[in-house]
Amino acid sequence: MSLDPAETKMQFLFHLRSRGVTDARVLTAMERTDRAGFVTGLFAAKAYDDMPLPISCGQTISQPSVVGLMTQALEVSDRDKVLEVGTGSGYQAAILSRLARRVYTVDRYKRLVGEARARFEALDLTNITALTGDGCFGLPEQAPFDRILVTAAAEDPPGPLLAQLRIGGIMVLPVGQSDAVQSLIRVRKGEDGYDYEELRPVRFVPLVEGLGQDG
Ligand code: SAH
Repeated sequence: MSLDPAETKMQFLFHLRSRGVTDARVLTAMERTDRAGFVTGLFAAKAYDDMPLPISCGQTISQPSVVGLMTQALEVSDRDKVLEVGTGSGYQAAILSRLARRVYTVDRYKRLVGEARARFEALDLTNITALTGDGCFGLPEQAPFDRILVTAAAEDPPGPLLAQLRIGGIMVLPVGQSDAVQSLIRVRKGEDGYDYEELRPVRFVPLVEGLGQDG
């Protein structure tokens, strides 16, 4: 039996809460961001299922509960300038844009960046800048960032990203081998160094150096 859209959305929010996404600002941002607009063709019918789905360039849009937990762990305020590495469909960046002052998002595939830009424009999300580039090097010309979110797995937190985090800033990222279980970690940058916290096991596509084939 298929549910009407309002009911589908209510169940989606209920499910997010049951998975630990309890921050009201994060839930509201997710409620206002229709995931169906970030996937194409047949997959749109599965937009409200809590699973990753395929997007262009052999990449994936992350599982909504993981998007929610990562966003919550980032503790974003409306004064923050945020960098996301791994634009993908643009779904995560759209949610961040409703919580932050300014969002920069970078992907190594020009095609994904182009598709995401069109979605941001259609949704009138004017505080996001999407750029093609190798996010391993961050975005030095816009640094420092209050928050950095990486949505692809690195073996270790990339040095340039740590360097581009403001003192007092937070970075959330999956770390580990691409084919093994990875850990979501939260890094807080203090005056005297970094504080690392392991949050939960996750599975992400790998962070790959250099530009993608179409870029
Ligand atoms: N946040 C996305 C999902 C990301 S999937 C969403 O909401 O839909 C991971 C993305 O990271 C892929 O699009 C991949 O192309 C990108 N990526 C991998 N390595 C990268 C790198 N070095 N620099 C920038 N993007 C990278």
